[in-house]
Amino acid sequence: MVTFGALEAGGTKMVMGILDENGSILERVSIPTQEPDITVPAMIAFFSGKTIQALGIGCFGPLDLNPVSPQFGSITATPKIAWRHIPIRTLFMDALHIPVAIDTDVNAAALAESRLGAAKGLNSCLYVTIGTGIGGGVIIGGKPVHGLVHPEVGHQLVTPHPQDPCPEGFCPYHKHCLEGLAAGPTFEKRYAMSAKDLPHTHIAWDIEADYIAQMCHNAIMSFSPEKIILGGGVMQQQFLLPLVREKTLMLLGQYIQHPHMENGLKDYIVSPDLGIHSGLMGSFLLAKEAGNL
Ligand code: ADP
Ligand code: ZN
Repeated sequence: MVTFGALEAGGTKMVMGILDENGSILERVSIPTQEPDITVPAMIAFFSGKTIQALGIGCFGPLDLNPVSPQFGSITATPKIAWRHIPIRTLFMDALHIPVAIDTDVNAAALAESRLGAAKGLNSCLYVTIGTGIGGGVIIGGKPVHGLVHPEVGHQLVTPHPQDPCPEGFCPYHKHCLEGLAAGPTFEKRYAMSAKDLPHTHIAWDIEADYIAQMCHNAIMSFSPEKIILGGGVMQQQFLLPLVREKTLMLLGQYIQHPHMENGLKDYIVSPDLGIHSGLMGSFLLAKEAGNL
């Protein structure tokens, strides 16, 4: 049987999987992310001897994804200092002697949603996760967009809400960027209460929905994705998605209209389909492409 390796490399845990060529998960193991000299050999030990055809990695970033760069496939300026400049792709290639593909964790998840999940059958989509941070993967022509570095959807600037008590937000790099204003931990910083515990009626949710809607509006105006998929811990609040749709419609002001955007954007701004498996499935798709070269 032909099998592929998939690694979802996260800041808190590493999820490793062995999948058959149809994407069925044959084995799935998760280990905590410690220092690279502990975690990398443990991962290599897992994949060694598994007779996988190729390995795909969806990795926390930022990463060097320029294929002609000598540092291609290395982690770059991450706040996790021990992981800075770790050539993660090369380490696996040298140890396993198989093709290894790498992309950012959000691009991998976006790819999985685009091929197998909420945007299946479409050419383009935007996948955004609103969790500890905010990150987005842009798929155009069925492939993740890399551009010069990679898009940083979470750091786009948005207009502060007039009732936001902290209108500059909390990003160390930018004033009033989306992540600094709308990532999960900003609730605690503003209101000393976690997003999980704030009642639906709290103004915080109106502000949150406004920021996410601004991001949707900007994406629609910038590259017209065929679907917008919103995931991550904060979106677990079920009332938030309808509120985001409502505010996005208001911002669009009927300037953009399309049959796919009818029903109050119900089929246009949606939840992910693949749930917790999107990262691993995206890494599998990367592996499959690398293995078919
Ligand atoms: P990560 O971004 O770390 O990969 P998540 O997407 O699960 O993981 O995001 C975690 C963050 O999402 C938490 O820090 C918290 O702020 C927020 N969060 C988690 N669960 C909920 C919830 N049920 N309601 C609102 N916010 C939540
Ligand atoms: Zn920022």
